[in-house]
Amino acid sequence: MAQIDDLPPLRETIATYGLDARKSLGQNFLLDLNLTSRIARNAGPLENTCVLEVGPGPGGLTRALLAEGASKVIAIEKDRRCLPALEEISAHYPGRLQVIEGDALEFDPSILGDGPIKIAANLPYNVGTQLLVNWITSDRWPSFWQSLTLMFQKEVAERIVAKVGSKAYGRLGVLANWRCNTEILFDLNPKAFTPPPKVVSAVVQLHPKESPLECNLKSLERVTAAAFGQRRKMLRASLKSLSKDAEAIIVEAGLKPTERAETVDVEGFVALANKFDAAMSA
Ligand code: SAM
Repeated sequence: MAQIDDLPPLRETIATYGLDARKSLGQNFLLDLNLTSRIARNAGPLENTCVLEVGPGPGGLTRALLAEGASKVIAIEKDRRCLPALEEISAHYPGRLQVIEGDALEFDPSILGDGPIKIAANLPYNVGTQLLVNWITSDRWPSFWQSLTLMFQKEVAERIVAKVGSKAYGRLGVLANWRCNTEILFDLNPKAFTPPPKVVSAVVQLHPKESPLECNLKSLERVTAAAFGQRRKMLRASLKSLSKDAEAIIVEAGLKPTERAETVDVEGFVALANKFDAAMSA
């Protein structure tokens, strides 16, 4: 295992503080510092950058982010049992680690100030998708973050990066790829975690597009929910609930009423959202 600092090995930290993993908190710890360093390097460069980390747990990724040069890490952890372990890291890197005990879903990013922020996390699987959706649908755009480097179950990662025509293409892919450039960086074997999850994980990276196509977010969410909610149906049927003029609006958006959601690319959904929006506010 790589020596990135002279703090105790993570297994020792877990034993010292009795951090037996809890399923209810999505706790699958990454104890291999080679892997946590790989994630931190991919999130970099981190100099002069504040990193927001969700769910530091015993602090493996936190240590890697600090060793990689993050000027500050702000880490939100729901499990107070982890706080003493994180205090040890904080003492090792004076003034560079701020731990917030709480639920990341309730965290208000406006307290972060204006400097560059990157988000890096091995996300708890039970709230990971919701956190991502919150970050990519923020009212403020370009977003408060410069990049997201996040670990998900591979199946979720595939949905995030999915493009039209792929099996995993759906609402999440449209939303993510409308506003961001997305890619899967690498996979992680379940054996890399303690305890091992049942499925393969993957690290995904998102960079915000400076000028995504103009679109009303609520309208895009409504249209994709309706279209993918009945993905086997043709658009003229799946979008009927949005307007009695659905068929004409689909044609106005440059699409065929007989197409299905899975053949409509992001630009197509943006056009649909804009046309439905215009029709509703007419
Ligand atoms: N970062 C550590 C690692 O890589 O080993 C732990 C990752 S573990 C998959 C997820 C972490 O998120 C756990 O420490 C868990 O307690 C924490 N967590 C779960 N739900 C949370 C929430 N709503 N807000 C903040 N932290 C949460």
